[in-house]
Amino acid sequence: AQQTRTIETDCLEQWIEQYRGESSKGKCAAYIPALKEADPTQLGICVIGPDGQISRAGNYDAPFTLQSISKVISFLAACKHHGIANVLEQVDVEPTGDAFDSMVRLEMHKPGRPFNPMINAGAITVSSLLQGNGVQEKFRSFQDMVEGMTGRKHQINEEVYHSEWQTANRNRSLAYYLSATGFLACPVEDALDVYIRQCSLEVTAEDIAKIGLILAHDGYDPVRKEQLFDKEKARVTKALMVTCGMYNASGNFAAFVGVPAKSGVSGGIMAAVPPRGRSGELPFAGGCGIGVYGPAIDQYGNSVAGVALLKHMASAWDLTIY
Ligand code: GLN
Repeated sequence: AQQTRTIETDCLEQWIEQYRGESSKGKCAAYIPALKEADPTQLGICVIGPDGQISRAGNYDAPFTLQSISKVISFLAACKHHGIANVLEQVDVEPTGDAFDSMVRLEMHKPGRPFNPMINAGAITVSSLLQGNGVQEKFRSFQDMVEGMTGRKHQINEEVYHSEWQTANRNRSLAYYLSATGFLACPVEDALDVYIRQCSLEVTAEDIAKIGLILAHDGYDPVRKEQLFDKEKARVTKALMVTCGMYNASGNFAAFVGVPAKSGVSGGIMAAVPPRGRSGELPFAGGCGIGVYGPAIDQYGNSVAGVALLKHMASAWDLTIY
C-alpha cells in the first residue's frame, strides 16, 4: 500500500513528536541484555485501514522483536490446530493482576493450569501445544501463522534469541513447574526453546498493524480479501487482549484507550480497532490495525511513549469499543 499525505499522517507525525519525550519516564528492558541496546527515544506508528490505506510516522520502519505480542499469534495457531476448547483445557482465560512473569498462582491454585495465554506461564503451555514434533516443526507452525498474516517472511533476531536463552532462568522455572504439573504437551526444554524463538521473531510496526487489522475484522483480511481463521478464535483472542494484553495495566488501558491490544517488552504494541458504526466522520471508522514501537517501557512492561500516544489517538479519533 502507498502512503499519501493525509490528515491522518499529519496528525500522527504531530503526536509522535508530542509524545516522544515520554520515553524518558521509562527504560529499555534490561533483563534480556540485548534489548537494552535499543535507542529509547525511538517512537514509530503504522495504522492500516480496511481499504489498505496506510498511515505511518516516526520510526515506523525500525525492526524489533515480537516478545509477548507473539503470545497472541501462538494462541491463534494452537487453536487452529486443536480447536479452542482443547486449548482452554490446558490454559484458562482469566486475568491475574500479577506481573507477566509471575509464578505465584501456579502453586496457589491446584492443579496449576496457567491463568491465561498472555502471561508467560500460559504462553509456554501454548507453545508446547503448537502443531508438529520438536522445536523446528512447532516454531515453523508459529512462523507460518505470522507470515500468513503479514504476507512476508520473518527471521529470528539471533542476538536477542541467544541473549534471552542465556538469561531465561525465570521462564525456565515456570516451564519446569508446568511440566511437573502436566501442563506441557512436549519436552520442557523444547517448549522453552519454541517460546523464546517466537519472542525473538523480528517485525516492524507495519507487520503488527496488519495482524491487528485482521483481528479487528474477526480473522478476515479485508485488504487481501481472505478469511485466515474463524471469528470465534478472533473474538476469544480479542477478549484476552482486552483483559490481559497489557498485563497488569490492562484495566487502565481499557479505560483510557479502550481497544484490544497486546504489548511486548521490546516496546511494541499491537492494537485491533473494530469498525465503529457511530463515528462515520472520524478517521478509520471502518476499523484499523495499529502497530506502535517505542522501546522505553514502564514498570508493567508496556511502551511508555506508545501508551501515551495511543491514549491521545483514541480520544481524538474515538477509537474505544465501549
Ligand atoms: N520474552 C519475554 C519474556 O518471556 C517476553 C515478555 C514480554 O514481552 N512481556 O520475558
